[in-house]
Amino acid sequence: MITTLRTDITVSDICKGFVYNEYEGKGLFGLSGKLTIQPEYQRNYIYADGKRDVAVIDSILKGYPLGLIYFTKVAEDKYEVLDGQQRITSFGRYVTGKFAVKDDNGIPRYFVGLPTDQQEKIMQTKLTVYICEGTESEIKEWFKTINIAGVPLNEQELSNAIHSGPFVTKAKEEFSNSQNANVQKWSAYVSGNVIRQDYLRTALEWVSKGNVDDYMSRHRYDDNITELKSYFTSVIDWVSSVFIDVESEMKGLPWGELYERYHHNAYAPDEVSRKLRELYSDFYVKDKKGIYEYILGGCTDNKLLNVRIFDEPTKKTVYTKQTNAAKEKNVSNCPLCAVGSDNNKNRIWKITEMDADHVTAWSRGGATDIKNCQMLCKTHNRAKGNK
Ligand SMILES: [Zn+2]
Repeated sequence: MITTLRTDITVSDICKGFVYNEYEGKGLFGLSGKLTIQPEYQRNYIYADGKRDVAVIDSILKGYPLGLIYFTKVAEDKYEVLDGQQRITSFGRYVTGKFAVKDDNGIPRYFVGLPTDQQEKIMQTKLTVYICEGTESEIKEWFKTINIAGVPLNEQELSNAIHSGPFVTKAKEEFSNSQNANVQKWSAYVSGNVIRQDYLRTALEWVSKGNVDDYMSRHRYDDNITELKSYFTSVIDWVSSVFIDVESEMKGLPWGELYERYHHNAYAPDEVSRKLRELYSDFYVKDKKGIYEYILGGCTDNKLLNVRIFDEPTKKTVYTKQTNAAKEKNVSNCPLCAVGSDNNKNRIWKITEMDADHVTAWSRGGATDIKNCQMLCKTHNRAKGNK
């Protein structure tokens, strides 16, 4: 990455061709059209509060440093503001008469009403600007580093920065817009914050099978988001038709992956709902989030449910009882070894060499209590578990 320090750019230079869009709340261009002040990925202008914008102008008038400003070079003689857009938009708006600053006597002064020497002082103020040129990944790394000071950009905000263009613009209109009437429906299945790009992130993860940056890079200059939108809609429609119930545990599940794996299977929503209710009320099911994939996969993979296991006192009691009885009969304390014909027929296993097993499997209604517990040697327990 090449970084060039420029100390010759003045407020006046930046304000040539300064455009502020009142409706979008964004500073758009400056530096005679060569500078994009608020690229898509930047937050909107938030300094227009009569405090932070005024502080910028006060600083300039008092000769305080405005701090470092960073541009990225995006083409020959074309730049984007990477850091500093709030400060730039503040002085740009002041110079173009958008707000007033109180003078020492408490009188509000618009730029045109300032004494000429003060106008000059503002316009001739030199900025400290680093201009950066580099690959996407270099810029991304750099962006991460310089953003440590402010509210850090999250992963998707960074991706939007790196791949900014018509695709990101359209995608944000759909997925980062809290005014979108669909957001409420989506929020049953998607977690996070619309404004902080979490919904967009999810939509991109689903359509790209987890390769978000690759997908964004390939579609950067697309002028439509048809595939992104229709894939997302397909997933949401599929989930909401298979599961007619809406439970809080559904929020944030990897529905894109589940869709890929299971959407070719047929499900009866009523039957699914009945099974869901049954599992939700099952004391032994510890992982409620796992219920969804468990049902989609045909109710076979118990691991997904993290079924309650036998506690240590239960295991110890069962072990002692089993071992005493086995010793009397001179057989193995593993009931399956005891009925076998190999060398382990009479073997007394230590408790650490055994595991607790449901005599009647949990999936067939067997409870996790002492009456349904037996200790098996690890080999037999594993063999039984695999059936
Ligand atoms: Zn055994």
